[in-house]
Amino acid sequence: MNKNSPAFYLKTNRIFNNFKKISWTIVPVIAIGGLFYPKLGLLLIPIMLTIMTLGFFKGKYWCGNLCPHGSLFDFILLPLSPNRRIPGLITSTTLKVLFFLWYMGMFTWRVVKVSQLWGTLTFYDKLGFVFTMNYLVPTIIGTTLALFVNPRSWCNFCPMGTIEQLFYKLGKVTGLNRKTDEKVTTAALELCHKCGKCARVCPMQLKPYLEFSQDNQLDNENCIRCTTCIANCPAGILSLANAERAQQLNQGVNKLGYEGRRRMVGIVESIKPLTGDVNEYTFKLLQPEKANYTAGQFILVKILDDPEMFRAYSISSSHKDRTRLSVTIKKLKDGFGSGLIFGGFKVGDKVELEGPLGRELIVDKNAPKVLLVAGGIGITPFVPMVRDLLETRNSVEHITLIYGVNKEEEFIYDDYFKTLAACHPKFTYLPTVAFPGESWKDHRGFVTDVMKDMELKGYKVYMCGPKPMVNATIKVLKTKGLDERNVFAESA
Ligand SMILES: Cc1cc2nc3c(=O)[nH]c(=O)nc-3n(C[C@H](O)[C@H](O)[C@H](O)COP(=O)(O)OP(=O)(O)OC[C@H]3O[C@@H](n4cnc5c(N)ncnc54)[C@H](O)[C@@H]3O)c2cc1C
Ligand code: SF4
Ligand code: SF4
Repeated sequence: MNKNSPAFYLKTNRIFNNFKKISWTIVPVIAIGGLFYPKLGLLLIPIMLTIMTLGFFKGKYWCGNLCPHGSLFDFILLPLSPNRRIPGLITSTTLKVLFFLWYMGMFTWRVVKVSQLWGTLTFYDKLGFVFTMNYLVPTIIGTTLALFVNPRSWCNFCPMGTIEQLFYKLGKVTGLNRKTDEKVTTAALELCHKCGKCARVCPMQLKPYLEFSQDNQLDNENCIRCTTCIANCPAGILSLANAERAQQLNQGVNKLGYEGRRRMVGIVESIKPLTGDVNEYTFKLLQPEKANYTAGQFILVKILDDPEMFRAYSISSSHKDRTRLSVTIKKLKDGFGSGLIFGGFKVGDKVELEGPLGRELIVDKNAPKVLLVAGGIGITPFVPMVRDLLETRNSVEHITLIYGVNKEEEFIYDDYFKTLAACHPKFTYLPTVAFPGESWKDHRGFVTDVMKDMELKGYKVYMCGPKPMVNATIKVLKTKGLDERNVFAESA
């Protein structure tokens, strides 16, 4: 699998306002309707003025949020498009400049010709027709490219986009758009998982996570401010912000748990299959030879060099001398990164890692009682955590672990937790199956069904699992009067 494979670019929702949902209807009205009633083409005059004004103040905001062609590409044509990588020729500045000169040259020549009819009855029809043709061309070229390459191919050399960009440059040079120029901004580079999701969903195929400036902003003028990357960032660290706000965001961010982040090189020491689609990978650290991590933290595992891309995995096994660490990975159907790991990693391979990271699942050892809630592969951080809590003297008085899966064959580390519970009265293990076979004797239902009858006063709760489980659990905990400051979650 490589970056050109269809799975690299993801088709996700790009519609974040109601206008974008319907504005594609303007395209046939002007491009087709204008052929029969040419004055419709004159609607492009206010549209062009809006593009220039918005371009000056907000860069290519029009393209990502208001453009009818953009709505056609993102709403109507995306589901039909192969969504391939846009070839370098289409994204090149040479094409953009040459196409702009040719297109605007033709347009100006036609307008000059029509202007000779000024004052006649046919003037507005002829002028409208010039504009209509100028709208029909992008519709035909853009739709063809969308259906055979990528929905936003056209936007790389659209002359209107180029005009918008020129006005944006003017806004930057004069400094008049400093307050209104809201760019994609990361709250803190340290919190980025380098998962590349922002690049995989970006309609313009930019790579925000690799392009952020020292000011934590994306300065790429081709960014259409569509916010698709923001909506899809699993770390929730992206937003649109002007330079001043970007600074405030960075100052206000809590970097606790992320300060120790560093590059590491490890060697795959062992690969242990746990179930058909879950493997435990142990890395022996080469550089540095030791890492100072805490149970509950995660690391990033490099899956691709170009573009550099990582996946986050909780540390599932601590090694006392800190010269090794293990992660336990579930292979997802059509999963890009887990597919590369399962298909590519072999014992003896050198792997680049980053970390340790994360604070949500570092348990407060002074808490009297803790409830741990795991869903599916979300059990991984609790493997070293429970042992660590049990081995730490004068730590938590009681630990309860609710571990939910859909089917009993999905359990991993089940014997390990059963053994710990048998040896330590202060540890209660509650394996729970949502859709069990008849022979299953233990808890049935979802993790929330188990905790409904529990008395949770004085507990601190730590959970890890799919988002729906985390959200449902938070709801139940609220009904039981738990203060949300005592609830910590990470979605796996
Ligand atoms: C802090 C943290 C800790 C984590 N710990 C663990 C852990 O211990 N173990 C573990 O296994 N995972 C863990 N994860 C999840 C892990 O980081 C990856 O997200 C996971 O391995 C999936 O990555 P992927 O590249 O294989 O899937 P992706 O390619 O990113 O796909 C994600 C999902 O989208 C679906 N998808 C793929 N292509 C498309 C498409 N074209 N359209 C729509 N949907 C599509 C896939 O089927 C998959 O379900 C953790 C995540 C975080 C943030
Ligand atoms: S999507 Fe991933 S790579 Fe992009 S900013 Fe968010 S965490 Fe970083
Ligand atoms: S970087 Fe983000 S906001 Fe800019 S075009 Fe790509 S997805 Fe849209």
